Amino acid sequence: MTRTFAPEELIRTENFIGGRWVPASDGARFAVTDPADGKLIAEVADSHVADARAATDAAAAALPAWRETLPKERAEILRRWHALIVANQDALGALISREQGKPLSEGRGEVAYGASYVAWFAEEATRVYGDLIPQQHRGKRMSAIKEPIGIVAAITPWNFPLAMIARKIAPALAVGCTVIGKPAEDTPLTASALVLLAQEAGVPPGVLNLITASRGRGIDAVGDWLQDGRVRKITFTGSTAVGKHLARESAGTLKKLSLELGGNAPFIVFDDADLDAAVAGLLVSKFRNGGQTCVCPNRVFVQAGVYERFTALLAERVSAMKVGPASDASTQIGPMINSKAVDKIARHVDDALTHGARVVTGGKRLPELGPNFYAPTVLADANSSMLLCGEETFGPVVPLFRFEDERQAIEEANATPYGLASYFYSNDMKRIERVSRALETGLVGINEGAISSEAAPFGGVKESGYGREGSKYGLDDYLSIKYLCQGNL
Ligand code: ADP
Repeated sequence: MTRTFAPEELIRTENFIGGRWVPASDGARFAVTDPADGKLIAEVADSHVADARAATDAAAAALPAWRETLPKERAEILRRWHALIVANQDALGALISREQGKPLSEGRGEVAYGASYVAWFAEEATRVYGDLIPQQHRGKRMSAIKEPIGIVAAITPWNFPLAMIARKIAPALAVGCTVIGKPAEDTPLTASALVLLAQEAGVPPGVLNLITASRGRGIDAVGDWLQDGRVRKITFTGSTAVGKHLARESAGTLKKLSLELGGNAPFIVFDDADLDAAVAGLLVSKFRNGGQTCVCPNRVFVQAGVYERFTALLAERVSAMKVGPASDASTQIGPMINSKAVDKIARHVDDALTHGARVVTGGKRLPELGPNFYAPTVLADANSSMLLCGEETFGPVVPLFRFEDERQAIEEANATPYGLASYFYSNDMKRIERVSRALETGLVGINEGAISSEAAPFGGVKESGYGREGSKYGLDDYLSIKYLCQGNL
């Protein structure tokens, strides 16, 4: 029977190391709060170097036996973990919404999304093929086999506290790696709950370890992993600045890295597009998690001929959006994650206004709801001199840029060091082919705003990072290829 937990039973406040829940070695704790009202949810272990080291020791001890398990045995454990996640969808979804702030429906949706990666990699676990290389020399047989890379360190952000860590742990465990993880300081509880379910699913002690930490102490703790030669891989989702730091600091032991970093996604509406579909697609892609996802459109380019009509259609929908705490079931936009996030949004909007933008709707904080709320906003007349053009706003703000022709749209869309997602709307087949190829991003939504799927390769180009998560390619990051040459046959 798949066990269901009451919401409070899912809350774990200790580290999970070597199959046991243990406090930080010096007993330190830090507070996790609800972003909607600042209320304390729990105080959790504030780990430091000794805890990080203990996690690595446990992962190292568990590795030899785990990598020798049969793929179908690992698949079976992943399937049980998936069943537990699905069975506890409501409680996990509520926990996500509580510590991260996304609306309840989105919290539940994230659980299903994260679980889909576990199911996917349970399947993929049994399909890691090698190659017998066509014979090159008499008396010699050459083959390539794939092996688990070793201990994997997973460092994850707060915006998808379940899905981001699930889609790192699942492929790592599937191929026989052991894992040490550290979730973001804003949202450690969801990750701990997920690990609790992995324990319940029968993941052996030491195979999966999780430490929680505040920002400062977490940097030191992760620093120990970066220096430790036993850790062979870092998988990270977060900001480009931190991704570069991890690449630099782990260079001493030349680890393999997967970096899912920031984006600055363009969303282009050509004048031959279905405008209703474009508005619907923009709403889906822009306002998920209140605009706090790395694939959210950050710059919306609209061709001059449809600019006014598109602006009016969009504004009508955006101004009707319901903002509120996740606890209210009708909420569509929740609080931003913290005060730093709202300050950045306000700074971007103020800067845009001083550089000639016009507020069509929104454009202000909502203090009556709480300090972390910001109104869904549409800004017209955006231009490249604005802060929001150069960096992700990570909030519910749509800046509308006007363009004249396809060449200009592509040039401006690509005029960023980032390259994660892009979207465009057009009904011209030839244009679709041209623009898909010209956009310098790892993901392209064509007449579609909801593009994420466990079956598709997710990842960026340029300074949005490297590596792919999900899909048949998603195991490669956790494997190394070994060439065997057998002679004297
Ligand atoms: P965000 O801007 O979404 O908070 P960050 O890149 O700052 O993204 O954080 C993503 C993850 O990286 C979090 O778990 C955070 O604690 C961790 N992190 C932040 N800075 C560092 C650092 N210098 N070394 C290691 N981990 C870090």
